[in-house]
Amino acid sequence: MKIIHNKFIPFGDFGLMNILGLVFSKLPSELISPRSKRHEGTHTYQQYELLATGAILALILCNIYASWWYLLALPIVPFAIYALAFFAELVRPPYHNAKEFFEGKRLCDKVKAIPAWFAKVWVDAYRDNCFEREAYMNDDNPEYLATRHLFAWLWYIIPRDERK
Ligand SMILES: [Zn+2]
Repeated sequence: MKIIHNKFIPFGDFGLMNILGLVFSKLPSELISPRSKRHEGTHTYQQYELLATGAILALILCNIYASWWYLLALPIVPFAIYALAFFAELVRPPYHNAKEFFEGKRLCDKVKAIPAWFAKVWVDAYRDNCFEREAYMNDDNPEYLATRHLFAWLWYIIPRDERK
C-alpha cells in the first residue's frame, strides 16, 4: 500500500481513498492509524478480487463472442458489483428508523425532512454494504489480512439484524 498525501483527494469529508492499493490522503501520516491502514488494506484485496473477476469475465466473453469489445467488462464489472452491493443495502429496511425520524411531525415538516433522512439512508447503505462491513468488522484484528480468505466479502452479505 502506497499513501499519497495531498490537499484535494479524497473529496468531501472522507479521510482516505483507496484505488488498487494507492491510498490518497488529506491527513498527515501521523494521523493515519494502524487501524485505518488495515481497513484500507482490506479494500485493496477486495478491489484486486473485483478486478480479477472482471478480467476473467472479460476473457470468457471475448472468447465466446470473438470481439475485443468485451474487454470493457474488465473495468465495468468491479463497479457494477460494488453498485449492486450498495443499492441492495439502499433498498433494504430499516431505512434509518424512518418511523422515528418522521413521527410526530406535521406533513410539511415531514416533506422538509426527506432530504436529511435520505442522506442518512445513503450513508447507512455505504457503511452497511458487504465491502465496508468486512473492512470495519476486521480492522481491529492485526492478523486479519494475513489470514483473510479470498472473496471474504461474500460472507458479509447477511441481513442487517444479524450484524454486530
Ligand atoms: Zn472503508
